[in-house]
Amino acid sequence: MAGEPQADCLFCKIVAGDVPATVVRETDTTVAFRDINPQAPTHVLVIPRAHHPNAAALAEAAPDVLAVMMREAREIAAGDGIEGTGYRVVFNTGSGAGQTVFHVHAHVLGGRGLEWPPG
Ligand code: AMP
Ligand code: ZN
Repeated sequence: MAGEPQADCLFCKIVAGDVPATVVRETDTTVAFRDINPQAPTHVLVIPRAHHPNAAALAEAAPDVLAVMMREAREIAAGDGIEGTGYRVVFNTGSGAGQTVFHVHAHVLGGRGLEWPPG
């Protein structure tokens, strides 16, 4: 069923506390933690507690949670002192776009100059 925890999902395990993570913020519906392989001084992942494979699926099932994720991105940027200089929010969607964990997550990146277009 949509949203149910998946036994083989790394991010469901982080939500459950079965895999450790450096959690920076939590809400009723989301958890945010530092990426284990940071690509910028600020690199935080915001995920819904419920399992949805990608942003498109979450937008269909629970668009309100997608809105919370964007609000959390701003709070993370503010907490890391980069709201003024700017930050990037990325949803890699599909393996061709670089998605490797199929539990939707927003990358919040900043703290250095970010090139555009991305690679
Ligand atoms: P993506 O390639 O967009 O699916 O992003 C997955 C992200 O999860 C990558 O940036 C990884 O570095 C990150 N990641 C993988 N395992 C962990 C973990 N145990 N804790 C925190 N971040 C992780
Ligand atoms: Zn999951």
